[in-house]
Amino acid sequence: MYKSILVPIDVQHKSSWIGALPAAVNAARGQGAKLHVLTVVPDVFAGVDWRYAIRGAQQGSIEYDRQGLMEQAKKRLEELVADQLPEGVDAEIMVRHGTIYEEILEAAEEVEADLIVMASHRPSLKDYLLGPNAARVARHARCSVQIVRDREEGQAAPRS
Ligand code: ADP
Repeated sequence: MYKSILVPIDVQHKSSWIGALPAAVNAARGQGAKLHVLTVVPDVFAGVDWRYAIRGAQQGSIEYDRQGLMEQAKKRLEELVADQLPEGVDAEIMVRHGTIYEEILEAAEEVEADLIVMASHRPSLKDYLLGPNAARVARHARCSVQIVRDREEGQAAPRS
C-alpha cells in the first residue's frame, strides 16, 4: 500500500522513464498514491557532466546557468508528464540541483516516499546491471526501491 511514490528521471534519457513511469503508475493504481516525478540538474562541481558544464561556460555565471538549466529541465519534465502519464494520475514534478543520488535520497525524505521507482541504467552501459545512481539509491534509501529493467538487456547480460 503506497501513498507517496518518487520517480527520478534523467530528462536526457528516454530509458529512464519509458519503463519506470508505467511501473510507478501501476504501483499507484487503486491506492490513491501520489507520484512525485523528479529530475536533478547535476551540480557541475559535484559530478562533472560535460553536457551541462559546456553550456554553463557559455552563459557566464554559474548561478545564472543553474537557474536556466533548472527552468529547461522543469519544462521538459512538464512535457514528459503531460505526454506519458494517463489522465487522473495525481502527480507533481520536482526539479533539484546537486549530486544526483543525494538529491534523490533527500527528495524521498521530503515527500515521505514509501517507494522509489527508477530504471537500472542507460542502455549504453549494458555491461553494468546497475548504474551508479541506481546502485547508491538502492543501497541508501530508507524506503523500498523498485529497479525497473529492460527485459531484453537483462536477458543478454552475462550471468556469473
Ligand atoms: P546511468 O549512468 O546508466 O544513467 P544511473 O544509475 O545514473 O545509470 O541511472 C539510473 C537511474 O538514475 C535513472 O533511470 C534515473 O532514475 C536516475 N537518474 C539518473 N540521472 C538522473 C537525473 N539527472 N535526475 C534524476 N534521476 C536521475
